[in-house]
Amino acid sequence: MKITSQTNRFEEKIPSKKEIEFWYNNAKKIWEESLKKQGVSLPLLKRNESVYIQSGVALSFLTRKVGAITTKKELDWVVSIFMNIPTHDIQDGRHLSDQKGWNISKEKRGIYICEDINIPYPYFNNHRESGNLTEENWEEIKRKYKYICYTCGTKEGEINSRVGGAIVILQKGHMDYDKPLTYDNTIAQCQYCNQRYKNRVKFDIKGYIKI
Ligand SMILES: [Zn+2]
Repeated sequence: MKITSQTNRFEEKIPSKKEIEFWYNNAKKIWEESLKKQGVSLPLLKRNESVYIQSGVALSFLTRKVGAITTKKELDWVVSIFMNIPTHDIQDGRHLSDQKGWNISKEKRGIYICEDINIPYPYFNNHRESGNLTEENWEEIKRKYKYICYTCGTKEGEINSRVGGAIVILQKGHMDYDKPLTYDNTIAQCQYCNQRYKNRVKFDIKGYIKI
């Protein structure tokens, strides 16, 4: 795996692919046994044999050990290494608990702690945010539109001025914000479009604004 020079200060903590897969499979096993029934959602680890998925890598690293302390910087960095993209500000640490239900707390600013791997996050509200959309559904939705924002056409993984010169990361957008995020009600949007239109605008299947 290629490591860029900007990341050298954390070098001793780089997890191997084997470790990332081992931790992920451990979380997956517990999810299958108990968390799934409680509405917790499991992100996929890989898109295919060699391409990792951000939220899966984040889950693996954050749940590597109960009580493990991870700084946001470390998480950003580990994810960037596995995705082979420059370090950027990811929100997966927060989303894994609030939206997906994993028991990862944020005791202090910029620090994540894996509290427990057997019980869901206590403040998790699985119905409001996630509907019944699975990670497989979400990957399918993105694949259908070739990893392009339905609304503005920016491409996932590209650096784009529309998102302030950052990397485009597709987010789950509601077509109809009055309905839950289900397969038929979800479009992929870049972080700019997703924030801009949140709970204000309804979209059709092509990402056009419904009038
Ligand atoms: Zn967009």
